[in-house]
Amino acid sequence: MQSYIAPLRLRLDGDALVSNWRWLSAMSGSAACGAAIKANGYGLGSVEVMRRLMQAGCRDFFVSNWGEAAAVEPLLEDGISLSVLHGVRAEDMAQALASRARPVLCTPAQVARWRTAGGGACDVMVDTGMNRLGLDWRADVAATVEGLEIVTLLSHLASADEETPFNPTQLERFMALRGQVSAPRYSLANSAGICLGSDYQFDLTRPGLALYGGIPSDRATGHIRPVVQPQAQLLQRRRLIAGDSIGYNTTFTAQRDHEVAVLNLGYADGYLRGFSGRGAVIVDGESLPVLGRVSMDLLAVDVSAKPDLAEGDWLDIAYDLGVASTASGLSQYELLTGLGARYDRHWD
Ligand SMILES: *Cc1c(COP(=O)(O)O)cnc(C)c1O
Repeated sequence: MQSYIAPLRLRLDGDALVSNWRWLSAMSGSAACGAAIKANGYGLGSVEVMRRLMQAGCRDFFVSNWGEAAAVEPLLEDGISLSVLHGVRAEDMAQALASRARPVLCTPAQVARWRTAGGGACDVMVDTGMNRLGLDWRADVAATVEGLEIVTLLSHLASADEETPFNPTQLERFMALRGQVSAPRYSLANSAGICLGSDYQFDLTRPGLALYGGIPSDRATGHIRPVVQPQAQLLQRRRLIAGDSIGYNTTFTAQRDHEVAVLNLGYADGYLRGFSGRGAVIVDGESLPVLGRVSMDLLAVDVSAKPDLAEGDWLDIAYDLGVASTASGLSQYELLTGLGARYDRHWD
């Protein structure tokens, strides 16, 4: 039996993924360069991303929770490290103790839980001012983590994608911690943090966004290659006569006749309503605008300039992350992680 072929797909460029990791690794200097593969590899598919980056030499991976860890656990082998950024809840303990992955302990209660269970190797997250996850940098972190078998001590930058004095402030706090808590490795930088320069690299970097083609900083422009190309199939071609409107709430009314293609893609696929009247598809290098509102599973584009396009044809959705982010009002992160389960994922 032939398996189902979805009417929408992601073309994923494995060479670009690896090339992005290599550039980030070079930018990381003597620090090892890991990979954040949480949220199903930012929507691309965590297993396929991890497999490719392991082949390229990446050794350190990060997911958010133990559900995500279970998905990639079969790939783990000696020398490959997987850290679970949200640490361990009581509900996670059985899995965590049996797993080769390590929790990134974030709270005093998590530390106590892990220590009491004799959990072994772990990482520790210290908050240096973002006030999201981690032990408070102002507390006696050394005393809190005493006796733990720490592999990596981490913190996370709040504003690495901006020039702001808050970056050096967090850096100073992290350097002070390094003087108090001894660990084999220290890690601070995400994608944008890598671009802040060598002071921020420490022993291990943790890029996510830039691996997948996101541009975290001007310094990455021209070096980071796009990885994701969404494509949708043409479901119906129709003619709009001047005066006709199209889509929910008739937000677009034709001033002239148009040829329209209706495609199998909508906001349930992460192509959110912000693209209504603002998105485009690209055919032979030409940009064809989205007309009217994006529906849950469908959208319409103006194909007046393309008389040959027909039912069943595949069209490239304009998804340059920088441009699409400006057009839609979504962040580059949202554009990636919103890519849902209905796409077939094809790696070139
Ligand atoms: C998501 C995440 C990263 C990766 O960040 P990017 O901005 O995508 O490079 C690194 N570290 C932590 C703790 C994260 O949560």
